[in-house]
Amino acid sequence: MTRAETIEYIKTNCYGEWCKDDWRNAMDMAIEALKMIDESKTADVVEAVHAEWVDKGEDYVLRWSCSNCGRKDTHIYNFCPDCGADMRGSTDEI
Ligand SMILES: [Zn+2]
Repeated sequence: MTRAETIEYIKTNCYGEWCKDDWRNAMDMAIEALKMIDESKTADVVEAVHAEWVDKGEDYVLRWSCSNCGRKDTHIYNFCPDCGADMRGSTDEI
């Protein structure tokens, strides 16, 4: 859902005759609509950035390093906890 669609959604669903008597309900719907924007933003970021875990070797305590932001970690994740890059498929161990 785009921002314009969300605004249209709020206008259509939150400014009807019924909501004059139920403003709180309308606010709930507006908040729900804003959450949808946040979710679609997050999805866009995750799709846009791809990176991989760089293996520093077993001698390092923080063995894995994100090739996008340089975050170091003892574990590997499907998504970098710092920059949110999609790390899936970067190693065979996931
Ligand atoms: Zn990262």
